[in-house]
Amino acid sequence: MKRALVNGAGGFIGSHLVRRLRQEGYWVRGVDLKYPEFSETAAQEFFVGDLRDFSVVEKAVDGIDDVYQLAADMGGAGYIFTGEHDACVMHNSATINLNTVEAGHKAAVKRFFYSSSACIYPERNQTDPDNPICSEDSAYPAAPDSEYGWEKLFSERLYFAYARNYKLEVHVARFHNIFGPEGTWQGGREKAPAAVCRKVAEAPDGGEIEIWGDGQQTRSFLYIDECLEGVRRLMESRFSGPVNIGSEEMVTINGLAEMAMRIAGKKLNIRHIPGPLGVRGRNSDNRLISKEIGWAPSQHLEVGLTKTYQWVASQVRSARGALASANS
Ligand code: NAD
Repeated sequence: MKRALVNGAGGFIGSHLVRRLRQEGYWVRGVDLKYPEFSETAAQEFFVGDLRDFSVVEKAVDGIDDVYQLAADMGGAGYIFTGEHDACVMHNSATINLNTVEAGHKAAVKRFFYSSSACIYPERNQTDPDNPICSEDSAYPAAPDSEYGWEKLFSERLYFAYARNYKLEVHVARFHNIFGPEGTWQGGREKAPAAVCRKVAEAPDGGEIEIWGDGQQTRSFLYIDECLEGVRRLMESRFSGPVNIGSEEMVTINGLAEMAMRIAGKKLNIRHIPGPLGVRGRNSDNRLISKEIGWAPSQHLEVGLTKTYQWVASQVRSARGALASANS
């Protein structure tokens, strides 16, 4: 049985990835600062530990064939674009990556997957919301718009340096806004799809929701199951990347909110308020991944958003129920 380690197994993508690897017959060890928030981990073994500590990482990689390095100090725009968390984001995530690749190399891990991000792409190519450029070769000269993006770029280079010098097998994907059930949906680290679903679920029909900026900023969003299919195919391929794993179905944030309202069957006003925004436009460019490994998303955004809305709405209902019983 092949043995996989998932760093960040208590997080959104990591907890889903553990489940997927188990379904494929892997023996899985997960490591994270915390257990998954919304369901039991599917991992056979789960260490609660801090991957900034080298001795924890040494224990984690012991006896492992494949490492999936997803642990990072991260969040949505409300966390990474305000500037308040820059030092932590850079220090924590870089330390995790330095430890993982070094300990993994020493333990003779066979293959590494590293989750980079669309946030590495230069801001100058993402000012036109209708025509953002995010082809893999546009990453340099580098100019990410956040320290989160700079750390991701550094760590991409770190894995490729180890691959070059120590002949490790490395696969690097640049994720573009992954979403789905069991993702953070409140508290400041949530991403746009979960935040929009929560606002729509909380608002009474005919009410109002707030959107940061004018809502004309564009993005694309990839449903979690599609992301995992891309990750697994990349890992099984001979292609190292870095390569985009995202959707090419670009929407404005207003459009995303309207889609969520349609799903919920509610009519709501959108009030635009100031807030952290990130780049003006961003879309995945899937030409390279399609050419190299033949992967592309199989479903439209609305399919994944419907499942996500239903899940977020159930969380909102349970939170309200808990509050009501606490007050009674
Ligand atoms: P997440 O925040 O849900 O998961 C990250 C996990 O890492 C968390 O559970 C956190 O507790 C853990 N972690 C952080 N510091 C740690 C430490 N010192 N020791 C042990 N565990 C630690 O995020 P996610 O959405 O699941 O993202 C997974 C990876 O994919 C991250 O590297 C992220 O940067 C990358 N990524 C995600 C997206 C997205 O849209 N979700 C987009 C681009 C890139």
